Amino acid sequence: MKKAQKDVWSGILHRLESTVGEDRFNLWFRNIEPITFSEGTLEIGVPNLFIGEWLEKHFGDVIIEAARHEIPECKQVRFKVVAKLFKKVRETQLREFAGVAEEIGFVSDHTAEIRSDMLLENFVVGPCNRFAHAAAMEIINSTSTKFNPLFLHGGVGLGKTHILQGIWNSLQKRRSKRKAIYVSAERFANEYVFALRHHKLDSFRHFYRNIDVLLIDDVHFLRNKMGFQEEFFHTYNSLDSANKQVVMASDTHPKLIGKFKEALINRFVSGMVIKLEPPDFKTRVAILRTKAKQLRKVINPDVLRYIADTVTGNVRELEGALTTVIAYASLSKSKITLSLAKQALEATSKNKRNDISIEKIEKTILKHFDVTRAQLHSSRRTKSISYPRQIAMYLARKYTSLSTQEIADYFGGKNHTTVLFADRKVSRLREKDVELDALLKKLEQQITA
Ligand code: ADP
Ligand code: MG
Repeated sequence: MKKAQKDVWSGILHRLESTVGEDRFNLWFRNIEPITFSEGTLEIGVPNLFIGEWLEKHFGDVIIEAARHEIPECKQVRFKVVAKLFKKVRETQLREFAGVAEEIGFVSDHTAEIRSDMLLENFVVGPCNRFAHAAAMEIINSTSTKFNPLFLHGGVGLGKTHILQGIWNSLQKRRSKRKAIYVSAERFANEYVFALRHHKLDSFRHFYRNIDVLLIDDVHFLRNKMGFQEEFFHTYNSLDSANKQVVMASDTHPKLIGKFKEALINRFVSGMVIKLEPPDFKTRVAILRTKAKQLRKVINPDVLRYIADTVTGNVRELEGALTTVIAYASLSKSKITLSLAKQALEATSKNKRNDISIEKIEKTILKHFDVTRAQLHSSRRTKSISYPRQIAMYLARKYTSLSTQEIADYFGGKNHTTVLFADRKVSRLREKDVELDALLKKLEQQITA
């Protein structure tokens, strides 16, 4: 930037700082920069969409006013995500974590799994999730622990991760002094193994026992894994006895979670156990309205009601249907009308043959390969087991409308990337390997019969 432009920009920043105050300035304006000014529009680079939207919504007028002082002909400001700024912010975050990571030598960036749009502000509250949301608000608003742990459970795609990450994002945004960590149980387990192998258990324990709010997702992953449960039990106890908050999410109620240490289950139910239900029609419409707004799409209420009426399962499917409709309209270069939405959703439901259940696919596989269900759901990687498992995942992707995560969950709580990997591997092999192709055709005949 030229000297004069630099002065103009620092003038604008200076004015902004005095208007919004130092705290808010540091929070929102520190990582932005001017890109261009032409035809009355000042374009400002931001690190991510979320910050851009926030600035526009909350500080739009203030920014224009500050800009006009320096550039009288400025009529509007526009925000654009700039990769360089995104990287810079990420790096700062990483550096903050590296301080910890160096000391303990293994914990990599936990923030990488956080979705910045999973905010409690974006969470649509309805009868299905009211208590879970209220409990989350209670946790971010109070400094003492009133209930421990908070245990959320419910099916896939009902907002458990959204609430956990929403708590993390809120604490972050408020620059809370409480140290919060969001981690999936799978990652916790992996880190534990890593620490064990590298003789770093002390550091691992030090890290996980010095957290104010531990948000641990998909704890059902620990089912049948007694060693990890033992470690988690100790982590939980030490946090609980220090009055630190633990929030957990799982696919089922603690009592139904499967093979779990009795003592751990007792701890789970000793706090607040809340179930998330699938959203009712009104909430589904409200969710769609919110999502459409986030995507900056104006969609006719009739269309939203139609989608909410057609897709009744979970919020993830609801989001998927909305994206499908939007994509369909954009590909066919037409407006989003009711009849277009119908076409779009019919086209996709035909592609996915919904009537075939994953259980049926599994049965066919078990019979053909002579493996047991327990083996298929285990984490064993022996070829005689992993091969049928991968084929089962491939067929589930092809013949059911389940998401990769749902398929992963079905096969013993695996990572969804395992399913993606299996799907790709089998479909690639199939192209080259005639024997495999013949086998798959035979299996496909059986499952579609
Ligand atoms: P779970 O962890 O229970 O499987 P997620 O939290 O991942 O489900 O939710 C699936 C998707 O649906 C996410 O994109 C999430 O943002 C969205 N979602 C879920 N519940 C709500 C809600 N009440 N309001 C807005 N979005 C929601
Ligand atoms: Mg989840």
